[in-house]
Amino acid sequence: MHPLSRRTLLAASAVTVAAGAVASCSDDDAAPSSTAPSGSEPPATEPPATDPPVTDPPATDPPATDPPVTLDLPADPFQLGVASGDPDATSVVLWTRLAPTPLEGGGMPADDVAVVWEVAADDTFAELVAHGEVTATAADGHAVHVLAELPEGSWTYRFRAGQYTSPAGTTRVAPAAGTTPDEVRVATASCQHYGHGYYAAHRDLASQQPDFVVWLGDYIYEGAGEWDAGSSDRSHLGPEPTTVEEYRNRYGLYKSDPDLQAAHAVCPWFVIWDDHEVENNYAGLTPQDAADEATFAARRAAAYKVWWEHQPTRLPAPEGEEYRIYRSAAWGDLLTLALLDGRQYRTDQACGDATLSLEPPCADIVAPGRTMLGDEQEQWLYDTLGASTAVWQCLGNQVILADATFNGAILNFDQWDGYPEQRARILQHLADTDVPNVVVVTGDIHLAAVAQLRAGERGTGTPVGVEFITTSISSDGLIGDELTDVLKSFPDLVDAELAHRGYTLHTVTPERWTAEYRIVADVDDPASEVTVYQTYVIEAGTNTVAVA
Ligand code: CA
Ligand code: FE
Repeated sequence: MHPLSRRTLLAASAVTVAAGAVASCSDDDAAPSSTAPSGSEPPATEPPATDPPVTDPPATDPPATDPPVTLDLPADPFQLGVASGDPDATSVVLWTRLAPTPLEGGGMPADDVAVVWEVAADDTFAELVAHGEVTATAADGHAVHVLAELPEGSWTYRFRAGQYTSPAGTTRVAPAAGTTPDEVRVATASCQHYGHGYYAAHRDLASQQPDFVVWLGDYIYEGAGEWDAGSSDRSHLGPEPTTVEEYRNRYGLYKSDPDLQAAHAVCPWFVIWDDHEVENNYAGLTPQDAADEATFAARRAAAYKVWWEHQPTRLPAPEGEEYRIYRSAAWGDLLTLALLDGRQYRTDQACGDATLSLEPPCADIVAPGRTMLGDEQEQWLYDTLGASTAVWQCLGNQVILADATFNGAILNFDQWDGYPEQRARILQHLADTDVPNVVVVTGDIHLAAVAQLRAGERGTGTPVGVEFITTSISSDGLIGDELTDVLKSFPDLVDAELAHRGYTLHTVTPERWTAEYRIVADVDDPASEVTVYQTYVIEAGTNTVAVA
């Protein structure tokens, strides 16, 4: 919530002065086939049984079908760049969206358009490893999702439509199950408010060439109010989105950024959402701002559809109000990823979603059955962890999981502190089942932190994993950095850095997990220097973290 975050900041200073204490806060926020992206695809994980124009590596011929027409468009339709995502051991999704005027409805004709996709070993595209043709439909905003079946390794891809050719991107297919790569490099990132600064963090991420990115939410911000006017010299355009067209225009604005495009073009992404892809701090079908349930359900469905249109995911297009995005992935036997959805199934925030209250929480907080993930997703998480044979289990998670309460007060009811029953059950499950090497990666809160996860009492319970909380790519900090030492005094917070924007670059080997916190010197400068704040390491088998 935008207004909320301003209040959070004010409240934070008030708390410091009045109580000499702390504050935290909440983000004020908060199977395609080779032939088509369409609402009628089979559910995610399985490629379609028939898969005509894909693969055949190593291929040698140029595509048999050139786009037959010259397109009459007001401008280049590939202004939003290209992306790839959700790689597995045999395939990866390639994405683009044709939009010559991305801030004004896209600018494509009402017709469907044929798009050729090409994959090669390098950016000369001299020899194609795979290629095909896909239809970009007006119904899906002329977005394209191609499931390209490819051998393990790194590949270059592009799209062509009419006389236009897209920029090229690099993607990767994951190592096979049963093999353990020596190393994987993973970037985690979240919270890229367009009006709050530039994307120097994405520029640096692209230059680091990780194997993949895990995006943890707040890809767009929906607001149009004061907080969302922005603090840098660029700002949101148009009204707060509630319709498909308005959400498309908002994504068009964000995806017009060259540094974000570069980060997508350099490697595949696994993308999950948080609150701002719909509305700040929404919970299930309960909106933050007053709206009847049917109205909000329609808005949420529009937001979910447009999220799908703009992300390189192998998930099928959403149909209806609900949309399952939680899913798992693997990088050989080195890493299992469990990607969570902490928004769609959660109980409404308790106690009026109070922020920075130093009072004991109201009784609602312990109402039986309050949930962040819902029962089905919780069971799916246990099943996923139970089935994994990987060295490391990585949970992609939206809001802080570690205990960040203060003298019994819940400072942010939107975080896992506000859902204590389900949190305690999950952490105890990790202890009871001895799940090895759990690392939780988290976004949302616009600060960098490292936390010890424990079953049982904070500070003394059994270590069951480590949480790496990445700061925001660009979104304003929500807590004044004068509170850094207060946060560090929390028993399970190993470190905290509140003053900078950035992201986290992880290097994972069978022996250890290393997390490098990279921070932006000046978020108002797209050319800003990006440096290492600190590096932390987990030795496999320890469930504890130390400065490297
Ligand atoms: Ca958020
Ligand atoms: Fe955020």
